[in-house]
Amino acid sequence: MGTERKQRKVGKIQTAVLLRTLFPVLLLGALMAFLTYRGYRLAIREESQPVMQNVAETVATQLDEAYPGDYYLVGEEIVSLYKGDTDITLKYDVIDEIKEKTGMDVTLFYENTRIMTTLADGEGNRYVATGVNATIYNEMEEVQDFLYYDVALDNAEYYSCYMPLHNADGGLVGMVAVARPADYFSEKAWDYMTPIFAAVAAGLVFTGLFVWFYTGKMLGDIRSIREFLERMTNGELSNPMNKSVLKREDELGDVGKTLVDMQSAMRILVERDALTSLYNRRHGSVKLQSVVKKSQKQGLPFALALGDIDFFKKVNDTYGHEAGDIVLKKVSEVMRRKMVGKGFVARWGGEEFLLVFREADEAKGTALLRDLLEEIRNTVIVYKEQEIRVTMTFGIVPGDLSDDYGELLRSADEKLYHGKEHGRNRIISRFEAEECGETEPITADVAAEAESTEGVVLGIDLASSDIVERMLQKTAEEIKAE
Ligand code: GH3
Ligand code: MG
Ligand code: MG
Repeated sequence: MGTERKQRKVGKIQTAVLLRTLFPVLLLGALMAFLTYRGYRLAIREESQPVMQNVAETVATQLDEAYPGDYYLVGEEIVSLYKGDTDITLKYDVIDEIKEKTGMDVTLFYENTRIMTTLADGEGNRYVATGVNATIYNEMEEVQDFLYYDVALDNAEYYSCYMPLHNADGGLVGMVAVARPADYFSEKAWDYMTPIFAAVAAGLVFTGLFVWFYTGKMLGDIRSIREFLERMTNGELSNPMNKSVLKREDELGDVGKTLVDMQSAMRILVERDALTSLYNRRHGSVKLQSVVKKSQKQGLPFALALGDIDFFKKVNDTYGHEAGDIVLKKVSEVMRRKMVGKGFVARWGGEEFLLVFREADEAKGTALLRDLLEEIRNTVIVYKEQEIRVTMTFGIVPGDLSDDYGELLRSADEKLYHGKEHGRNRIISRFEAEECGETEPITADVAAEAESTEGVVLGIDLASSDIVERMLQKTAEEIKAE
């Protein structure tokens, strides 16, 4: 029994739970990182605004200082930008120097046309004489204040600040634009992301380890439960449940406790006789074997007896089967009580019992048995206002230390029959027991047998040859069956 299932080193549940836990944590981490990145980027852009405004104002001021006067265009087809008396169209020193110092690109617009700019294509050609998005200039005409726009120029993206330029009369004449590549903000935001990624990674590792160890502990307990069940399947009904399972106060602990209860219930079913609650024949044999083994190990004696209720059939016939059951229960109860601390008693057959006396030689066993028989004789069982009394016959032998306890049982059985044949209500052992009294004379052939088994017959003669005959037959069959 108990199919060998794969013993996994890493539990399937462990991997499944780990993956299912890490996946949402990873997802949450990615979302958190994305939102933080966006937040940082926006914040950096906002922080840049006063700086960009400042740069734009510096450009206007420096141009005013270098070339005082109004901005105006000269020329029809090829136009030049004048400021005061100076044609500043090619006077790049101011804006180039500012770009060098601040890293920001500067553009000067006359109305909505780029006249001067630090922005250039790959070959160094400045993007001059191009127009700005109409929306921007329209808005500038309206608000005449700093404006911020994301603009694309030749596939490159910029975040730009536009400042209005006024002539002396206060009229809008153009704009100064200060731009930073969009990448600048992305890179800056990215720089701040390192601790966020570290936190997400730490979160993943921590969650992973926590889940791994927690489920590992749980799986260890599940494994213990499984091993317990496997042992139970293999018939081990006294195997203990792992303490760590029983200590748990969760569902797994409940399962463990329920299984322990189930094991005791199974043990009762398997080891005990339903009517008398004594050990059944099978478990009696097991217990006997263990007594033999223990005695062998410790070199201690033990004694073995078989007992049978006398004329039990008559009890059934006279009072009914139910009364018979009650008698069996009561007699069993007396025997069990009397055997506490001395050995054990098992229901060996219908009204037949096996008694094993631990750490007792035959003399001690006989003495204990005598006391037990006396108690049974004095026990009155009341059934439907009728008093029932029974006696028993026992055959007792000293345990030998060989493993063949079958021989011991046969020998005890022989003595039991001897007792049945010679009056019942007695104990047959090798010892004299005069105090049991009422010794009947022994017939010649029985006496010979009694001598051969060194038995002494005690008790009252209640023999009924026909019953003894049947009993002999039955036991002969049982011995054969063993
Ligand atoms: P003896 O003194 O020779 O042992 O006579 P006896 O009548 O006790 O022996 P016999 O073997 O003739 O009868 C035993 C009876 O025990 C027969 C059977 O019906 C009865 N018996 C066996 N098991 C049970 C049981 O569980 N309940 C009841 N009520 N009777 C049982
Ligand atoms: Mg009987
Ligand atoms: Mg019997």
